[in-house]
Amino acid sequence: VKFYRNERIEQLAERRLAELERVLEAPLQPPIPIDLVAEQVLGLNFLWDDIPELPGETVFAGLIPEKHQIVMNERHKELFERKPGLERFTKGHEMGHWDLFVDQSHLGQPTLPGLNPEHRFAYKTSSSGRVQVLSALLRDPDKYAFLLDLQRRRDQPNEARAVNRYAAALIMPRTLIRQAAVQVDCTHWPNLYRLAETFGVTISALRVRLDQLNLVHLGDQKRLYASKEAGVGQQSLW
Ligand SMILES: [Zn+2]
Repeated sequence: VKFYRNERIEQLAERRLAELERVLEAPLQPPIPIDLVAEQVLGLNFLWDDIPELPGETVFAGLIPEKHQIVMNERHKELFERKPGLERFTKGHEMGHWDLFVDQSHLGQPTLPGLNPEHRFAYKTSSSGRVQVLSALLRDPDKYAFLLDLQRRRDQPNEARAVNRYAAALIMPRTLIRQAAVQVDCTHWPNLYRLAETFGVTISALRVRLDQLNLVHLGDQKRLYASKEAGVGQQSLW
């Protein structure tokens, strides 16, 4: 597995956003249109489908590299609707797998045996509208199991770190986050909630991002500090 330094991931994400700005001929403002980055820049498409889970397991989404496809698990649709930031981060995570770890030059045609390409897709109507389903795969339990295996493949810790950093860098670009963060007092939770709303992210994703950029640091008892140093300084007084 390739190793990426954070700085390289930040730069790659910034390059992708710049590419979308060229396509849109306009500068990006939060919330970053993550679907457009996937579709217009990375050439990916989205599929909502049922991805079975084992007891105690949560699978938010998967990637099918051969199809340039991110499969979002329908099972969590309600949760995603309640937490759009989670949906956006999940998409960014899968995009990170694609952009950082899939060897796109060696992707050929889908290699699942015995599939007639013309019959691979079908449409069905769901609450979210017309969705593409992998009808051929669904009809053949063995092939579907193989597909799910690919999607479920556990992330190596390094890969998970890298794709989560990529997701954060895409939906919370450091320039835009810094611009917004310096205008408010980031040590007050209500300001952070507003910031999270603006960027379309969960409060926890924002908090991690601000910490990564050393804009705020979460100390004990959910107390917020302007920096790690300030946090350490404060704590040593008690
Ligand atoms: Zn993953």
